[in-house]
Amino acid sequence: MARITAKPSYFDLHKTGEMDKRIKSLYKFLENCELCPRKCKVNRIRGEKGFCVMGRDLQVSSYGPHFGEESPLVGIFGSGTIFLTGCNLLCVYCQNYEISHYKLGKSINEKILADFMLTLQKDGCHNINLVTPTHFAPQLVKSISIGSEKGLKIPIVWNCGGYESVEIIKLLDGIVDIYLPDIKYGRKDSAEKYSNASDYFERCKESVEEMYRQVGNLKVDHQGIAYKGLLVRHLVLPENQSGSKEVLDFLRSISKDVYVNIMDQYRPLGKACFHKELDRGITAEEYRNVISYAKKIGLERLDKN
Ligand code: SF4
Repeated sequence: MARITAKPSYFDLHKTGEMDKRIKSLYKFLENCELCPRKCKVNRIRGEKGFCVMGRDLQVSSYGPHFGEESPLVGIFGSGTIFLTGCNLLCVYCQNYEISHYKLGKSINEKILADFMLTLQKDGCHNINLVTPTHFAPQLVKSISIGSEKGLKIPIVWNCGGYESVEIIKLLDGIVDIYLPDIKYGRKDSAEKYSNASDYFERCKESVEEMYRQVGNLKVDHQGIAYKGLLVRHLVLPENQSGSKEVLDFLRSISKDVYVNIMDQYRPLGKACFHKELDRGITAEEYRNVISYAKKIGLERLDKN
């Protein structure tokens, strides 16, 4: 079984009753939805739907131990991954297209999700890894609370797309142990064209700064397993559509020790084929250039490099 090395953040909040207050505040956002920067202002409690096309109920695509994440998350027994259905970004090249765009998944309630979390803990997973959680923030925190009452004690990973509302991130302070945001774009034109979110980088920067304020750099135990901190992912797109230098400069301004996974696995999925510049994988040279730049500006904690 996984060795628990530190008390998770939510443990104390749950005991003091603060967690219940946060849950109440978060559910309020569902009535006039402003859970993300799109601020659709639809009443999701009544079943109205905004850009993410998700209503009141949680929808989960799959859950289980996952061994394809970064090694500090995978450890020995895997990361306890829960894939939520839908997304607030809906990128044209999404690498999980069926789950985000085609809404592959089942509706469940918060109690059932808490049971999934407890099952993953029982299976030895080192953390609960919530994939694309933003549009279900209230329901997820409620599930964490129910799980906590029943003995959940492994760290919570907030594995998000980076298009976050800083107000919501503040409400997660002391609940999330490990923030795992993407920073997809340092370019406004790309964010607009591929994700319909021209303010992506601005919202992302202010949210990541808040995440860092809460949890700091990634901390690992004696086995190299993460229990708290920030881990950032950046997927390199062809022809520098991701604006990688701007992203890396921002991360360097936070800390030279911020843990960054610069990813090379881009494939032209979904509707990427309708954009000529995205209709291929990246070249070795494109990837090398980004890694070289990260090293040149002094980022010292690069995953696998
Ligand atoms: S979470 Fe969904 S409905 Fe709410 S503001 Fe974001 S995209 Fe709109």
